[in-house]
Amino acid sequence: MIALEKRRIVRVLPRRTSLSRPDPRNPNLERVIAANIDIIANVVSLRQPPLRTGLIDRYLIAIERSGAEPLVCVNKVDLLESASDLDALQPYAQMGVPVVLCSAATGAGLPELTNALRDKVCVFSGHSGVGKTSLLNALDPDLHLTTGDLSTATHTGRHTTTFSSLHRLPSGATIIDTPGIREFGLWSIQPADVRRYFRDLAQYAVSCAFSNCTHSHEQDCGVKQALADGLIPPARYSAYRRIVDSLV
Ligand code: GDP
Repeated sequence: MIALEKRRIVRVLPRRTSLSRPDPRNPNLERVIAANIDIIANVVSLRQPPLRTGLIDRYLIAIERSGAEPLVCVNKVDLLESASDLDALQPYAQMGVPVVLCSAATGAGLPELTNALRDKVCVFSGHSGVGKTSLLNALDPDLHLTTGDLSTATHTGRHTTTFSSLHRLPSGATIIDTPGIREFGLWSIQPADVRRYFRDLAQYAVSCAFSNCTHSHEQDCGVKQALADGLIPPARYSAYRRIVDSLV
């Protein structure tokens, strides 16, 4: 980690990619989480805290908009109880999003994670307590970063990381660890934009009668037909609708 006393602005580079969200206190203000990153890893945990696919969906939209490559990093696979715990991740893998299953505790999946991040500038972002800092320590045991305890009552985690920090790993990866977030608002995304980000639904939109179909109230909607035919899991359609409704 770069020592605080050595930090100074040398140059301001143009932004090639940038991950943003609305300021939680003033939603009209853009908060840039990190810029000029190659890969944005949305770190999630299978349990403690539980997997929340709604958060992954929001991240994937923000990542696609950022211009960086996405990665879903699923930590705590040592807490896997049944293979069906992973079912909710299927749509992401099917859409071509890299999904890495790993455990900072056991070291499972760390070689895959190292390979995915090698020589790249990456950001670890996700809910507090999912194990972002633990993963960094596992990837480079010389870091000795302070990790947080989980609240046993809620398994939600405390915000141990309160500022972003940049680490250069022996593999050549540069990783930015970020403070945990509870809600991820979408910056500068219109309800109509959400359609193209849900690529698994969008493939059926070619059959919609209206080119601007929102797949909600319209007649002759290809997406709703695919839902009725069992081609789209109801959870994916609900996820789409939840995000659109949150932006209206
Ligand atoms: P962060 O807030 O995302 O940076 O999470 P931390 O790295 O501080 O970890 C939060 C808690 O999860 C700590 O109690 C860690 O010991 C625990 N933890 C991290 N990784 C794993 C893992 O792979 N398996 C299990 N069972 N616990 C983990």
